[in-house]
Formats: sequence, structure tokens, C-alpha cells
Amino acid sequence: MFKKDFGQHILKNPLIIQGMVEKSALLPTDTVLEIGPGTGNLTVKLLERVKTVVACEIDIRLVAELKKRVMNTPYQNKLQIRVGDVLKSELPFFNVCVANIPYQISSPLVFKLLLHRPFFRCAVLMFQREFAYRLVAKPGDKLYCRLSINTQLLARVDLIMKVGKNNFRPPPKVESNVVRIEPRNPPPPINFKEWDGLTRIAFSRKNKTLGAIFKQNAVAVTLEKNYRVYCSLKNQVS
Ligand code: SAH
Repeated sequence: MFKKDFGQHILKNPLIIQGMVEKSALLPTDTVLEIGPGTGNLTVKLLERVKTVVACEIDIRLVAELKKRVMNTPYQNKLQIRVGDVLKSELPFFNVCVANIPYQISSPLVFKLLLHRPFFRCAVLMFQREFAYRLVAKPGDKLYCRLSINTQLLARVDLIMKVGKNNFRPPPKVESNVVRIEPRNPPPPINFKEWDGLTRIAFSRKNKTLGAIFKQNAVAVTLEKNYRVYCSLKNQVS
């Protein structure tokens, strides 16, 4: 008999799944957001622990599989499925996010979660190992980058588990890590868009000093243009 192949890397090791669930410190009253539930290995463990799981899945074949798995179980009323691209949809209300996500959407998803309101308590997510290391990198580390600075501005991030490729079927090419993300509440009192613009410039050239970057003509022109827009919005003479 053929195994169904959905072209995804399904998390198979029950110990890793259990570890993710435990590290999320779930309460029976929680509403959990799961992104990319796939065939539902993690979903069913979440359903045992919480009030509601809202699962966002883009692949309708997997949605059908998941529905079949939960149908006629005591958990069927606890599961809400949202079909579609999580990046293009408005996030539902949730307290905690637990997911083995599709790695190609890691970066936009982290910021979508961190800019979402109301605040959630924490997110326990599986990432590609190098991405996870970037999330937690500190100044001076080789992997320190815009992603590190912007994430750590908005959240505390910790590596909580190393996960080898053989815990997935089929095994992916890359190694993985589970990361815990806890939003800083209240957030720092800054305009995140402006801050992001600044870090974009500051990290635009790997081997240039900040002084050299700000002396570039293109940067000066951009800053001046932005300043004029800012002044006209504030009704000031530039
Ligand atoms: N969580 C499952 C499967 C992980 S594979 C497990 O641990 O076994 C990633 C899953 O994300 C797949 O089910 C895939 O269909 C889904 N997915 C991919 N891109 C998505 C997107 N943009 N929005 C929502 N789901 C997505």
C-alpha cells in the first residue's frame, strides 16, 4: 500500500511533539493557534489540553485529512479549521501559538505574530536551525542580523530543543530547532516601522561601518526625502 505523500515534512517523533506541548505551558482555558497542522499529529495533542485549537492550513487535501482524523472524537467541537494562506488572512484570537510551520514563511510569520494584538502569552515554534540561531543571536555573533535585533526588540526568544532531520517524514535537508517566543508586554514605546527602516539601512552592508553607510549618497537622499515627508505630515517647514 502506498503511503499518502503530501510533499510536506510531517513531524513524527511523539517525544518531540510532547516536548513542544509541554514547553507551551498550556492551560485548559487556552485558545491555541496552530499554523500548518498537516495531518494533525501535533493538533490532536493540543486538543487534549486546551479549550480550542484554531488551525490554519493552506492545503485542502490536508484539511480533509485532519477533519477525518478528528471527526467523531470527543475533540471535534474544539477544533476550528481556517483554510487559506496564514500570511494573507487576519489572525484569529489566540493565547498561545504552537506549530511546526512551513519554513519558507518563517520571517514574515514571526513579525505577523509579534505585531498582532491583543498580545499572546507565548509561541513555541519549529524553525530551520540557522533561522533559529539568527533569532537568538547577540551583538558580536556571526549570525547577528536585522532579524535578531527586530525580534528581540519585541520579544524574549529562547532555543528550547534541537531537532534532527530524522524526526520528520520525509526527512528535510536541514536541521531544526524549537524556539520559544514571548512578546514583550508592554512593547517598547517606538514606532516599529521607523525602527525597521533604520535597521534596514544599518544592516544594508555587512562589512561597512555605520559611519560609512550613512555617508553613502543614496542613504542621504532617502533620509532627506523621508524627512520632507515627515515635515509635510507634521505641517512643518523643512
Ligand atoms: N504541522 C505538521 C505539518 C508541517 S508541514 C506536522 O508537524 O506534521 C507545514 C504545513 O504547513 C503543511 O501542512 C502545509 O500545507 C502548511 N502550509 C504551508 N504554507 C502555508 C501557509 N502559507 N499558510 C498555512 N499553512 C501553510
